[in-house]
Amino acid sequence: MNVYDGQKMADLLKPHGYALTEIPDDADVAILNTCHIREKAEHKVFSDLGRLQVVKKNRKDSGDNDHDMIIAVGGCVGQAEGEEITRQAPYVNMVFGPQSYHRLPEMLAQVEQKVKGKRRKVIDTEFPTISKFDSLPKSDETPISAFLSIQEGCDKFCHFCVVPYTRGAEYSRPAKAILDEAKHLLKIGAKEITLLGQNVNGYHGQGLDGSEWSLGRLIYALAELDGLKRIRYTTSHPLDMHEELYNAHRDVEMLMPFLHLPVQSGSDRILDAMNRKHNVAEYLNIIEKLRNARPDIGFSSDFIVGYPGETTADHQATLELVKNIGYAQAYSFKYSPRPGTPASILQTQVPDDIKSSRLAELQDLINIQQLKFNQLMIGRTLEVLFDRDGKLPGQVLGKTPYMQSVTLDGDSSLFGNLLRVNIKHGHGNSLSGERI
Ligand code: SAH
Ligand code: SF4
Repeated sequence: MNVYDGQKMADLLKPHGYALTEIPDDADVAILNTCHIREKAEHKVFSDLGRLQVVKKNRKDSGDNDHDMIIAVGGCVGQAEGEEITRQAPYVNMVFGPQSYHRLPEMLAQVEQKVKGKRRKVIDTEFPTISKFDSLPKSDETPISAFLSIQEGCDKFCHFCVVPYTRGAEYSRPAKAILDEAKHLLKIGAKEITLLGQNVNGYHGQGLDGSEWSLGRLIYALAELDGLKRIRYTTSHPLDMHEELYNAHRDVEMLMPFLHLPVQSGSDRILDAMNRKHNVAEYLNIIEKLRNARPDIGFSSDFIVGYPGETTADHQATLELVKNIGYAQAYSFKYSPRPGTPASILQTQVPDDIKSSRLAELQDLINIQQLKFNQLMIGRTLEVLFDRDGKLPGQVLGKTPYMQSVTLDGDSSLFGNLLRVNIKHGHGNSLSGERI
C-alpha cells in the first residue's frame, strides 16, 4: 500500500515540476513514506531522517541557499506522531498522514514560500471527510504488475495493531472508480493487478448497478476487462471471506491460486486475546473451502510470536498449524508493543530472548515448508509473467502464480507475456527451468 501511495505522491507532484530521483543529494524535496506497524519500522524513520539531515546541512554549508532541501514525513508515522516529529527533528518541514497526501501540492506550496528567509512548517494529519481517492490523478506509467487500492482502513481493532488509528476507518471505493483505474492501468501497460486493502476481502463498495458489491463480485467484473492477465488481492482477513469470493476462486481462471490469509497464531487462547474473533478450526475450515473451490491454491500468512501471555504450548500450537497447512511462504514477526494499543499495556509481556528463539524456530519451519513447496513444482509447467531484468545481464525475472521468482535467459521483449516454463529446480527463494 505504501508503494501505491508513493506512486500517487509522485503523480501528484509531477504537474508541479517535480521528477523522481533516487539520489538524496539531488533532491529538492525528500519525502519519507513511513510505516508504523512495528517499532523497528518507526526507528528506521528516525535513522533515515538523521541521514537526510546531513544532506540538508551539507547543502546549506555549501552555500546553496536556493535549493535547501525540504524534508517531509508522510505515512503512518506522520499520522501517529504528528507535531512530535518536528519537535524531535526540527529540520523536518512537513508532516502528513496516509489520508491527507492528496493535499501534497498545496502543502508543498506553503512550505516553498519562505518568510524572512525561513520556511513555514506544515502539519496535516486530519482525516478528510471526502476520500483522498477523489483527488488522486491518473498515473502516466505503470509497472506490468500494478497495485490498485480498493479499500483502506480498518474497524477491527486487533489488540496489537495500530492500523485502525493510523489509516482510519474502513472505506471502500466505488466499483466504477476502481474499474476506471484498472482500465487506465491496462491501457498504459499493466498485465497483472493486485487489489489492495487492509482488509481487502471486507470490500463493500457501491457497485455499477447501485447495489453494494463484495470483493468477489468486483473480481468477476474486473475479469471482463480486455488485456488483463492476472488478478490478485491482499491482505485478507479470515472473518471477511464470503461465498462470492469462494465462487470467484472457483470460476475466475485469472484470479491467481495464491492467497495471503494471515492467521497470526495457532492458539485459540491467543487468537481470542488478540481480538481476532475467529478460532483455529474456523480458519482451517476457510482453507478447506478455498481448496475445494480451487484445488491448486497455495497459501501464505503472517504470524506474530511472543504476544503477551503466549506460553510454550501456545507457540507449539502455532508450529502445529503451520505444519498442518503447508504454507507456500509466510511472514513472521516478534510482537512489538505499539503505543495506544490494548496489548501494549498488558503485564504479561514476553521477554525478548524468548520472542527471538520462538521466531527463529518458526522461521526455520516456514523456510523448510517454502523449500518443500518450491520443490513440489519440479516437473510441472507453470505460467510465468516476466516483468523485470534479472540480477545478471541477459536474464529476466518473473513470477509464477504462487509468487515464486523465476529467472530465464532473455531480454525485455519477454516482458508482459505469460510464458510456460517447465520447472527443473526448486530453491529456497526461487525456481528455475526451461521455457516451452
Ligand atoms: N489486516 C491484516 C494485517 C495488516 S498488518 C490482517 O488482519 O491480517 C500486517 C501484519 O503486521 C499483521 O498481519 C501482523 O502479523 C503484523 N503486525 C501488526 N501489528 C503488529 C505488532 N504490534 N507487532 C508485530 N507484528 C504486527
Ligand atoms: Fe490490524 Fe488487520 Fe487487525 Fe485491522 S484486522 S486491526 S489491520 S491486524
